[in-house]
Amino acid sequence: MFPAPRLLTRPDTAPAADEMLWQDPADHTPTPQVADAVAHPDTTAAALASREPDAGQLSALNPRRLSDTGLIDALIASEKLLATVAAKQQEFLAELAHRDPHGDRYLRDEAACALKVAPGTAVQKLDEALELTGRLFDTNELVAAGHLSPMNARILARAVPGLTDDVTAKVQNRVLPRGCAQTPGEFRAAVRRAVAKFDRKDETAKHTEAFAQRHVTNYPTENYMADVVLHLAADGATIVTTAINAWAAKTGTDDKRTADQRRADAIVDICSHALALPGLPKEHGIKPSINVTIAESTLRGEDDQPANLDGYGPIPASMALPRRLRLHWRGDPHCLADLPGAHQHRFLVDADGRILDRDATLTSDQYEPPPRIARHVINRDQHCIHPGCRRKAGTCQLDHRIPWPDGPTSAENLEPLCKRHHDLKHHSNWRLHKCPDGSYEWTSPTRHTYRYRPPELPTPTREAAPERPQQDHDDEPPRFLPSRQ
Ligand SMILES: [Zn+2]
Repeated sequence: MFPAPRLLTRPDTAPAADEMLWQDPADHTPTPQVADAVAHPDTTAAALASREPDAGQLSALNPRRLSDTGLIDALIASEKLLATVAAKQQEFLAELAHRDPHGDRYLRDEAACALKVAPGTAVQKLDEALELTGRLFDTNELVAAGHLSPMNARILARAVPGLTDDVTAKVQNRVLPRGCAQTPGEFRAAVRRAVAKFDRKDETAKHTEAFAQRHVTNYPTENYMADVVLHLAADGATIVTTAINAWAAKTGTDDKRTADQRRADAIVDICSHALALPGLPKEHGIKPSINVTIAESTLRGEDDQPANLDGYGPIPASMALPRRLRLHWRGDPHCLADLPGAHQHRFLVDADGRILDRDATLTSDQYEPPPRIARHVINRDQHCIHPGCRRKAGTCQLDHRIPWPDGPTSAENLEPLCKRHHDLKHHSNWRLHKCPDGSYEWTSPTRHTYRYRPPELPTPTREAAPERPQQDHDDEPPRFLPSRQ
C-alpha cells in the first residue's frame, strides 16, 4: 500500500544499545498471503506484527480463530498499520498547509470539514504535520515504520513550536531512542525534561511564550456535568483560587457541603454575579444569556423530557424548570429558569425538533435584524452553520444568505456565521444552500459537499398549541423557551 518504511537516519553518535530499536525484523520474516490469514491465522498475525502490516491480510484475520498469542500479534499489527496511515496523512496535511500558508484559500477550513473536526483542531493538526514533515522528519519516519506511536509523535510536535531548529534537533535526538517503548505519559515527561535541558531561553522569554497560550476550555462530561479548565499565568491562577476560597468560606452550621463543593459553587456564584453586571456588550441587541429550550408538554408537567442547554446539549428537565412547576421532581437546588432576570419566549417546532420560520412577523424592513428575529435565528441554528464550527450562534454575525436588499431581513434568509466563515462565504467560491429540512449544505471549490444540521430540540409529546403570530412574551407566563437575558 505504501512504500516500505525506511530505516531512520540515525544521529551520528547514537548509543549502541539503542540500535535495537532501529532493526527491522521484517528482513527475516516471510511475507504472508491473504490465504494464509485463513489457513494459518496465528502465523499470519505473527508475521504481520513483525513487518509492515498489510490491510488486506489483517482484515482477513478472524479474531475468534486466533490464540491469545495470535490476538496480541494482531493488535500489534493493527497498531502498526494505524501508525503507517497516520504518518502518511501527515504528508497530505503538510502539503495542504503549504498550499494555503495564510489561510486565505480556506483549504484549512475544508480540512476541518473533511476530517470532521473543529476548525481549531484542524489548524493544530496542520501545524503538527508541518513539524513532522519538516524539523521532526525522523520522528514521522519512525511512525511510518510502526515503531513510534502517532500519539507520541503528536506530543513532540506540540512541544517544539517556539524552539530553535538546533534545540528541536537535540530534543528529538534525546527522546526518540526510548520513545518507541514509552506510554504517552512517560514520553510527555521525557519531552519536558529534554526541552528544559536544551532550551536556554531566559525565564522571562519562556513565560512570554507560555502566557500567549492562556485559555479557558469547557468540556462536557457524563451525567450532565462539565469540566472548565483555566490555563493561566501563576499570578492569575492565584487570584482566581484566592477569590474562590474566600467566597467558599461563606458557610454556616447547617451547610452540609464539602469544601470542594463550596468552591465549585463559589465559581458559579461569582460568574452569575458577573453576568448580571451592567455594561456587558450585547450581541444583536441581546445581553449575554443562557438559553434553555424545553418542550411545552414538559412545562405543563405532562412528561419529563430533557431540555436543551445552548452550548452543552441535553440537561434534565429539573435543571431547567421553574421551581413551582417541578414539585414532583427531586431536587437540584439550581434551576436556570428561577435565576433573576429569566425571560421566556415561545417557539414553534416540528416533529423533528426544528424551530419553524412560519411567522409573518419574522421580517424587517431594516438591514439589522431586530432582537426578536435575531433570537429566533440564534435559537434555531444554535451554532455557526459552517460544518464542525462550534462558535455559539449568539456570538456570530447574522448573514443574509441572499444579500440585502435583494434578500429580505427575515428569519428564513438569515443564518449565524462566525467572522471566519462569514468571510469564507463572501470571499471564496464556497456555495451555501439551505435544504427544506432546515440543514445547510456547503459546496467547496474542490466540489465536495458538507452539511450542517442544527441539533434537535425537545418536542412536545402532545400536539403543539395552535400557531399564532410570534411576539416577545417577556411579560407572559412561561410558554416554551425559558431563557435568561
Ligand atoms: Zn464558524
